[in-house]
Amino acid sequence: MAEFPERKFCDNCGNLMIPKQTPEGIVFKCRYCKMEVLVTEDGERVIKPPLKVPNHHSETLWVNGHSVPFYYLGYYIPKRRGYPDEFSQQVLEFKQGYPFIVSRFAEEVVNLIRFRELEPDIIVPIPRSSAGKIGLGHRQLAEYISRTLGIRNGTGVLVRKISVPSAHLARSLEERPNEALHNFSISCTGDIQDLRVLLFDDILTTGATAMACIKKLFRCGASEVYLITLAKTGMG
Ligand SMILES: [Zn+2]
Repeated sequence: MAEFPERKFCDNCGNLMIPKQTPEGIVFKCRYCKMEVLVTEDGERVIKPPLKVPNHHSETLWVNGHSVPFYYLGYYIPKRRGYPDEFSQQVLEFKQGYPFIVSRFAEEVVNLIRFRELEPDIIVPIPRSSAGKIGLGHRQLAEYISRTLGIRNGTGVLVRKISVPSAHLARSLEERPNEALHNFSISCTGDIQDLRVLLFDDILTTGATAMACIKKLFRCGASEVYLITLAKTGMG
């Protein structure tokens, strides 16, 4: 037997790799970028390329005793506080369904899901404030993620039955719809019994919409819910 290295550091990101004995040799896996290298007597070979890890933030939401991992890519700074920064501008372009921006964000969300090793069975976009509407960017992103990860496309599982005022257009906190109003106006229509649901939205502002949707999904039978948004509204 050739001598195998006891410790190996990732060539991509420098982190310590975890060894695992397999019939082919020892597979070293990087805990951070997920690169895998097979080491045999003949030498070593990359068997899984490193992930491009997106910049992101992570939080945990507690909803009726369930822990819900929440990830987002950056902060959205509202326009009225000054000239929009590049990221906030792209989030607005996503809303309008600009294909280039949508596919770039969709790729980042896929990288994030792989990096966090989430295993959703279905992706469900959060509906818009207007009854019956789901944003163009939301539809395209759900379609991309469903195809890329081979999971169900749950567009329409959550449906807005009654229009509510848009939180982004509200001039004061009091004008924004609260969780009870969202709960009243959104229905869960699909069969999601025992499924792990990836809930997606572009911007989380007060969290009232997301909270109402998460509770709906659990009541509808979801076994787990993960929330991913492109942005969280930050202070400008
Ligand atoms: Zn690495």
